[in-house]
Amino acid sequence: MSACNLKNFFKRMFTKGEKPATGEPVRQFIEFDKNLIDKNAIKVVSIIHKAGYEVYLVGGCVRDLLLDLKPKDFDIATNAKPEQVNKLFKRSRLIGRRFRLVHVLFSARDFLEVATFRSGKVQTAKNGVIVRDNHYGRIEDDVMRRDFNINALYYDLQKKEVIDYVGGLKDIAAGEIHMIGNAKKRFAEDPVRMIRAIRFAEKLGSEMSEEIKTAIFKQAHLLGNISSARLYEECIKLFQNEYSFAVYEQLEEYGLLKYLFKQTHKNDFIKKACNNTSERIKLGKPVTPAFLFAVFLWQAQNERFALIKRKQRSFHLAQLQACDEAIVNQIKQVSMPRYLTSKIKDVWMMQSKLEKIQPKKVQSLLDNRSFRMAYDFLLLRSQSINPELKKAVDFWTKAQE
Ligand code: ATP
Ligand code: MG
Repeated sequence: MSACNLKNFFKRMFTKGEKPATGEPVRQFIEFDKNLIDKNAIKVVSIIHKAGYEVYLVGGCVRDLLLDLKPKDFDIATNAKPEQVNKLFKRSRLIGRRFRLVHVLFSARDFLEVATFRSGKVQTAKNGVIVRDNHYGRIEDDVMRRDFNINALYYDLQKKEVIDYVGGLKDIAAGEIHMIGNAKKRFAEDPVRMIRAIRFAEKLGSEMSEEIKTAIFKQAHLLGNISSARLYEECIKLFQNEYSFAVYEQLEEYGLLKYLFKQTHKNDFIKKACNNTSERIKLGKPVTPAFLFAVFLWQAQNERFALIKRKQRSFHLAQLQACDEAIVNQIKQVSMPRYLTSKIKDVWMMQSKLEKIQPKKVQSLLDNRSFRMAYDFLLLRSQSINPELKKAVDFWTKAQE
C-alpha cells in the first residue's frame, strides 16, 4: 500500500468511526510487493513461526514498505528467547551485552538481526542514560521501547497484517513524527534519538512534532555524551543518502551539528559535496565517508595550517601537522577508522600538488591511489569556494584522457 492509499484508508476509517478500543492495536491487512521484502527475512520469519513462536518484521522496514521505499535492512522481533532463536539456525550467533540479540548469518557481510520482545523496563544512570535494557516482555511492551510511532509498526508475514499500537499508520499517512512517550525523557535516555528524528524527517519529508522540536532545542548538548564510535556509524547514516544537505542544515538549525563536527561551518563547498554525494547515491555510484569528512574538515585544516606555517618553515611538515591536528580534534567527537583518516590526509596533501602543476610530477600524481578522490575534491572546490582553480581542474581533466 502506498502512502496515498494509506491516506485514503485513514480517511475512510476515521469517517466511519472504526477506531479500535483503547489498548487494542489497529490491525490492517496490507499486501506488500514481494520484491521489496528480503528473501532471507521471509525465510527466517517462516522458520521461527513454524517452531511455534510469534514473529514479526518490525521497525524501519515496515515504515519504508508502507511508503513504497526499499528498506535498508530488515529487523525481526519475536517472543522466542535469544537462545531459542539461536538453536533454530545453524549459522547464527548471540551478540550484545546491554541487550542480547541473535544474528542469523548468510554470508560474511549479510546477516539479519532477530530481537526478543523487551519489556521497555530500563535501568538508567543518574543522567537518565540507559545502562541496561534486557528484560524480556510481550509485543505490547516491546512497542513502547521504540523511538517514534512510525518506527513501532509490526508486520505479520503470515497474516499479511500491520499491527499498530501507537498510531504509527496514522502518522505515516499524515507525514508526522511523534515520540513514543515523553520526548524530553526519551531523548535523555538515548540522545542519538535526536539525530534519528532529524534524519527521518528529511528522509520521509515528514514534520517532527512540536514536542520533539522543543526537546531537541533544549537537550541538543546531550549528544556530546555519546561515544565517538557510535556517532561514527550514525554520521554515515546522516550524510550518505539522497537528502544529505537537508540533514546537515537541520542539524545545524537544531544546534546538534556542533556535537558532531565542532570545527565545521557551513559553506558552498559543503553544500556542493553533500549534494554530490546524494547524486552519486541516486546513480548507484560508490561513496566513501572519507570524502565528506575531508570536506567538512577542510576549512579547519586550512586554518590550522595558516597558524602553524607562521612558526614552521617546512611547507610539508606544516601541512602534515595541520592535517593531524584537525583529525585529532575531530575524532574526539566522532571516531574514524585509520584507513579513513589516512585517505583524508592523502586527499588534503594532494591539493597543493594539484593546484601548482609541475610537469615532472604529473604521472606520479595520476598514478597515486588517491588521485581520483583528490581530483573530485579539487573539482568541487573550484565549483564552490575556489573558482580560481578552474584552470588546474581543466588541466587534470585533460591529463586523465
Ligand atoms: P533505517 O534502517 O532506515 O536507518 P530504522 O528505523 O530501521 O531506520 P534501525 O537503526 O535499523 O533504524 O533500527 C530498527 C528499529 O529499532 C527502529 O525502527 C526502532 O523501532 C528501533 N530503534 C533503533 N534505534 C533506536 C533507539 N535509539 N531508540 C529506540 N528505538 C530504536
Ligand atoms: Mg533499519
